[in-house]
Amino acid sequence: MTTYHGACFCGSVRFEAEGDLAQGTMRCNCRFCRKMRYWEMRLPDPAGFRITHGAELLAETPRHDEDGVDMHHTFCSRCGTRLWTEGNIPEMGGHFIAVCVSALEDVPEAELIAAPVHYADGAHDNWWNPAPETRHL
Ligand SMILES: [Zn+2]
Repeated sequence: MTTYHGACFCGSVRFEAEGDLAQGTMRCNCRFCRKMRYWEMRLPDPAGFRITHGAELLAETPRHDEDGVDMHHTFCSRCGTRLWTEGNIPEMGGHFIAVCVSALEDVPEAELIAAPVHYADGAHDNWWNPAPETRHL
């Protein structure tokens, strides 16, 4: 397990996240992930997440999406960098936090390149199975 350090573009918001990129990351073909170019690393335990600076500058999407799913996305209100997603989905094991890989600051390029990516088929509410096409994600 590694403690990663993340931050937004302007540096106002900082966080720490305990995880392991080598255990896998996720991208997805749903409408939201396509617009946001989303790439996440789910933390093995939500307790391994800490905001270390700038909590007062955080902004969030609504707590539930249009389908009533309990999931929201957090970003810096100054620079707009997306930072992490938090939710509670029983089919995904309950409460979870997934940090945006793009917000991690101290990861060598080689580790990013080597991180396995699961391309989820979220466009069909089928996250557990691979997206049929991934080249555009
Ligand atoms: Zn910022």
